[in-house]
Amino acid sequence: MATTTTAGVAIVGGGWAGLACAVELADHGVPVRLFEAARQFGGRARAVDWHGLRVDNGQHLMIGAYRATLDLMRRLGTHDGIERRPLDLRVPGFRLALPRLPAPLHLAAGLLAARGLALADKLAAARFMRALQATGFRLATDLPAAELLARHRQPAALVDRLWAPICIAALNTPLATASAQVFCNVLRDSLAGARADSDLVFNRADLGRLLPEAAAARVRARGGETRLACKVEAVTRAGAGYRLAGPDVESDRVVFACHPARLPALLAGLPELAELGRRVGAFTWQPLATLWLRFAKPVALPLPMLGLGDGQAPWAFERDDIAPGVVSLVVSADGPHLRQPPKTLRDDYLALLARELGPLPTLLDWKLIIEKRATFACLPGLDRPGNATALPGVWLAGDYTAGDYPATLEGAVRSGLACAHRILENDGHD
Ligand SMILES: Cc1cc2nc3c(=O)[nH]c(=O)nc-3n(C[C@H](O)[C@H](O)[C@H](O)COP(=O)(O)OP(=O)(O)OC[C@H]3O[C@@H](n4cnc5c(N)ncnc54)[C@H](O)[C@@H]3O)c2cc1C
Repeated sequence: MATTTTAGVAIVGGGWAGLACAVELADHGVPVRLFEAARQFGGRARAVDWHGLRVDNGQHLMIGAYRATLDLMRRLGTHDGIERRPLDLRVPGFRLALPRLPAPLHLAAGLLAARGLALADKLAAARFMRALQATGFRLATDLPAAELLARHRQPAALVDRLWAPICIAALNTPLATASAQVFCNVLRDSLAGARADSDLVFNRADLGRLLPEAAAARVRARGGETRLACKVEAVTRAGAGYRLAGPDVESDRVVFACHPARLPALLAGLPELAELGRRVGAFTWQPLATLWLRFAKPVALPLPMLGLGDGQAPWAFERDDIAPGVVSLVVSADGPHLRQPPKTLRDDYLALLARELGPLPTLLDWKLIIEKRATFACLPGLDRPGNATALPGVWLAGDYTAGDYPATLEGAVRSGLACAHRILENDGHD
């Protein structure tokens, strides 16, 4: 197919979605200009300085089903910054490990061998997964995940031990209010997928090096432009294209790849998109908290990721890759923990860690990072917009656009790539 126009694309936001979009366009020869308000790339998955150490703004976890993300890392040459392990979820009194068997045997064998579940619970879990499989994991109408589990008569112990932790970790939204459809999508692509899809994938490079910095470098190497500390203040129409106040440039195509909470204000200069602004303006948010701990000596966790209790107890991650003795504790979603003074929270969590590991080495340093709008609340029937908008040349990329996934790295990367493909189709590229 003939290439008709290669006029440039301006991208507002250098998170994982904006960068995925930029790399894909740049690799297809489209001139790209990317503007990022912060002083580093990565958005909600970025590196931050902690007294000379580069840590993540929040502890992240990926799974083997994150195909688009892992593939993009391979393209950028950064996939040696990850470690893959077969799924092994361990919290006090419960353990689910999936053996290296072909699917679906890995799940059947894993469930049967799970510790901390009665046989009736294991059979109920298998029955639930079979019922979802029979409908292709599609629900006729979306509903709260807790209701779906109740309809399938899932025992309380199984819900507390298995389904609730998976839901809150993946959707960052409690079972009572989480979208059952997105919960089913996650189960389909993790537990019910190929064996490797359920692998846990840990970053062993900080979140800046893992993808964002290499992606920005790739864009520049392809002749594109990336600007940090460059906030787009407003976007308005200018002739057949658009004018971006802040960087003060004009472009015939604009991709909004900012946090969805920022979108309504940015769209204010485009009255044709007022309805879109209202839709996204109705989203609500869920926080995520990460407590970074630095001990005087390495702390050996029995697994790279260890649950410290039920409910909203934190998950601990060994992060010796950052420096010996670094451990992160992460807690999903809103809850009473966020109303505690940080020092009380730290001491409570240190006590939970010591309960699992025994006496801990001296604590040298700690840092609590709370991201208040870490993810959109993944509610039933959420009205997520597509990549295209009602205005020609205006596109959206971000974890919140229509898709199977909750607010995740994979959702962001898929959205960025899909947005680039739509732009390329419109350009008449191959
Ligand atoms: C603490 C935490 C833990 C998480 N844990 C996980 C996890 O374990 N697994 C997982 O898959 N996902 C996790 N997520 C979710 C994941 O990080 C996000 O879904 C993903 O990073 C969203 O990427 P994005 O590009 O869509 O948006 P963003 O990362 O929000 O990127 C938007 C970018 O736009 C920039 N911007 C905004 N306004 C402007 C403007 N006016 N001009 C220029 N630039 C602008 C912002 O600075 C930002 O860099 C977590 C998120 C957080 C915060």
